[in-house]
Amino acid sequence: MLLLFGSCVWGADYHFGAVWDGNKVWKDACVTVEKDRITGVGGCGAGAVDLKRYTAIPGMIDVHTHMTYVLDNRVSRAGRAAAVPYLAQGNALKTLETGVTTVRDLGASGYTDIAMRDLINLGRMKGPRMFVSGYGLSIRRGRPAAPNLADGPEEVARMVREQVAAGADVIKMYGSTGSGRDVSGTQTFSFDEMKAACDAAHAAGKRIAIHSYGPDGARDAVRAGTDSLEHATDMDDATIAEIVSRRIFYVPTIDHNRYYVDNEKLLNYPPGSVDGLNNFIARNLETARKAVRAGVRFAMGSDAVYTMFGENTRELAWFVRAGMTPEQALRAATVNGAELLGMDKDVGAIKPGAFADVAAVEGDPLADINVAIERVRWVMKGGEVVVDKRR
Ligand SMILES: [Zn+2]
Repeated sequence: MLLLFGSCVWGADYHFGAVWDGNKVWKDACVTVEKDRITGVGGCGAGAVDLKRYTAIPGMIDVHTHMTYVLDNRVSRAGRAAAVPYLAQGNALKTLETGVTTVRDLGASGYTDIAMRDLINLGRMKGPRMFVSGYGLSIRRGRPAAPNLADGPEEVARMVREQVAAGADVIKMYGSTGSGRDVSGTQTFSFDEMKAACDAAHAAGKRIAIHSYGPDGARDAVRAGTDSLEHATDMDDATIAEIVSRRIFYVPTIDHNRYYVDNEKLLNYPPGSVDGLNNFIARNLETARKAVRAGVRFAMGSDAVYTMFGENTRELAWFVRAGMTPEQALRAATVNGAELLGMDKDVGAIKPGAFADVAAVEGDPLADINVAIERVRWVMKGGEVVVDKRR
């Protein structure tokens, strides 16, 4: 920490060529940091750290990750869950390198996500701030009981309360079929079950994300009061209008299927999977276009698993293809993500009082979104430099 004379005795100034604070651009400005927080934006004191080659943007927020999904876990079955936070350290580091300093992690087994969140918060592991869901709820429908399976509104509500009691920050529900191997989007939980989950989450002061690949689960998730809608394709105009009027966030996760296409062999997908995935991508993009035109609020979610970490922000290029300006796409990855988390005082903007979460990019990300995707050179999280790739 630098000792400065003048107003900010224990602070340090970081001098950027430009600062996009989440709302507007400050040319040739300093971000003043004291301990883990930002205390000012604007003028520079003596001894500022020279980052004038770069544009500062708020540390980005990826609102849909699966940080605990590791491809290689050859640890004996009984020890597998315990090994996950160790094996997933690389996922956390690669995420930071993309300029993402906060994630919402939507579905993990054995509360490995809670362990990672706490280890990161304790400073024992390097990674983004994590807001985690514990188990994502799926339909049981006659299968043996398991910590992630529920049938009927009462059991659903109990499962939600169990995740909250275990320490979950947010609730995740799988409201349709659909995954990398299966791009069908058949609704699973009924409207009444979704409503029970939303009501139980909200009663506990938590928010809920409902996954639906197809339009039926999406329609019911929206009517049931979900806070964000994950993935959904083929939504009709009435559902999109209701997303707007209820101020629900849409997290289309278009890029994760691109990752599956690129890694079909690595992931051992059955022959022909690529056609279904590409078809899904096209419908996903078209639905996002309609949503952009209708004024839906988006948040950036990668749905990153396995080796996709490090590609967390590629979703932003799809947002621009769907009709957003680069600035609108960046808002989805910053201020909107913060609002979805209910953390807008603390993250998603470069402003006094917020955590000192800043990414320095080389170029103008408001002119070319690829600057934010490919040219992150330096990242600060909570006042600590966690990535430095300057030459
Ligand atoms: Zn997911």
